[in-house]
Amino acid sequence: MSDLTGPALLVPRSGGTDVLVVEERPAPEPGPGEVLVEVAAVGVNFVDVYQREGVYPMETPFVAGNEAAGTVLATGEGVTGLEPGARVAWAMTVGSAARHVAVPADQVVPVPDEVGLETAAAVMLQGMTAHYLTASTYPVTPGTLALVHAAAGGVGQLLVQLVRARGGVVVATAGGPDKCATAARMGADHVIDYRAVDDPAAAVRDAAGRGVDVAYDGVGRDTFDASLAALRPRGVLALFGAASGQVPPLDLQRLNTGGSLFVTRPSLAHYLASREELLWRAGEVLGAVADGSLEVAVGGRYPLRDAPQAYADLESRRTQGKLLLLP
Ligand code: NDP
Repeated sequence: MSDLTGPALLVPRSGGTDVLVVEERPAPEPGPGEVLVEVAAVGVNFVDVYQREGVYPMETPFVAGNEAAGTVLATGEGVTGLEPGARVAWAMTVGSAARHVAVPADQVVPVPDEVGLETAAAVMLQGMTAHYLTASTYPVTPGTLALVHAAAGGVGQLLVQLVRARGGVVVATAGGPDKCATAARMGADHVIDYRAVDDPAAAVRDAAGRGVDVAYDGVGRDTFDASLAALRPRGVLALFGAASGQVPPLDLQRLNTGGSLFVTRPSLAHYLASREELLWRAGEVLGAVADGSLEVAVGGRYPLRDAPQAYADLESRRTQGKLLLLP
């Protein structure tokens, strides 16, 4: 494969979007247990931002990106069940933002014929996140009242749909009228423009008629207090991200005065604890895309060389849905 070359997105040192560089590189040889994949699309995620900034410590330089989909070109020693030409996707594998990636075979899943590779790259990480939050962290059942923040975002749009698919009722928040319209189109029962209200928790309770059973909060610092205040007694706050910044230390007594509340800080990695769990979650997500019951909205496609712009857009609240890099 050494005659093949293609671009890769490098993080030479920790920092902002300006540190990113694109370099032409030879395709790697697949090692034992690996497959070499020609990548069709790379998913843009906040985990890439946390890794680039050093919030999640990384040894530099490294190739950015954690999620992609493409076609197997070659298999390394010991790989069974995957042949050149197979269409595969993965998430949570650092080094995915390149045209050619050697990825452990046990981290890839097959992409169903009905699902395009771009769509697969767009839905793996955020879709499995929405899946574990609604199926495992706080299993939604018919009538569950769920608060979803940033509901027009990548995870947000999928969360709204999966809560609804399980029979739950969604109170969504989003910033601005366009994003609120998107949340409603995804099926949210109530939508609040949280930039336009003084007391978002009161607005949630007013819209829902009571405290919510679960708050799915990926915004973090700016919404945490409202999420806690919107819960019913014994409700659950699933703080799954920090798009607006990290939440400061919490006085546990607030959980008591709030009504014996629960707070959890989950990560997809811990909800993909085995190959079986990966196949289950990815299978349900890609299956729902294949049968048309889960809509994946790609909000932007960028050539790999424009990755700094893609991340700048994501980090400044300008985007809706999922962003992709095309290598
Ligand atoms: P989004 O597409 O949701 O983009 C982030 C959105 O957050 C923005 O569009 C914006 O929506 C809202 N937001 C509010 N304040 C800010 C701010 N100060 N800066 C930037 N955005 C802000 O991103 P993703 O779907 O990729 O990720 C959403 C969250 O989910 C992130 O925190 C991410 O880390 C987390 N995540 C966690 C995982 C886990 O397993 N724990 C896995 C995957 C993602 P608006 O304008 O409507 O306010």
